[in-house]
Amino acid sequence: MKKRHPNHRLVKIHRSYMVEEIAKLFGIHKNTVRGWVKAGLATSDDKRPMLILGHALVAFIQARRVKNKQTCQPGELYCVGCRAPKFPAGDMAEYSPVTEKFGNLTAICPDCNSIMNRRVSLAKLEQVCGEMEITVPQALRHIVESNKPTVNSDLK
Ligand SMILES: [Zn+2]
Repeated sequence: MKKRHPNHRLVKIHRSYMVEEIAKLFGIHKNTVRGWVKAGLATSDDKRPMLILGHALVAFIQARRVKNKQTCQPGELYCVGCRAPKFPAGDMAEYSPVTEKFGNLTAICPDCNSIMNRRVSLAKLEQVCGEMEITVPQALRHIVESNKPTVNSDLK
């Protein structure tokens, strides 16, 4: 099934919606709408059933669409301060493992100097890094090396 963006034009900005109504309006699951609420979609108050104002819903969908477009390209990390993907200062990032299989890339935003983070799996580190020079803890270096495509082997 083709994944569709919820069409915000279906929303009437001057009315309030229940979670179920929004789900029906967009043909999506209620849990998806609840996920939006958790992700910051404003609700009218703490009363049950929860009501979501139309204009808040439109704003949320539009903001979300912009955000989805701004996925990081290779060599980029997302800066929360600038709300945009950025190439890190000096094209340098540091990998710190969370588990054996994935960890966090940390770098400095060149524009606002805040710390940028990107969650990556170790196996995809090579695809993600782009032009970045990634510092890896000594203990992991052999794993990263073994994931590198052997570029030179074909030339021999
Ligand atoms: Zn920034």
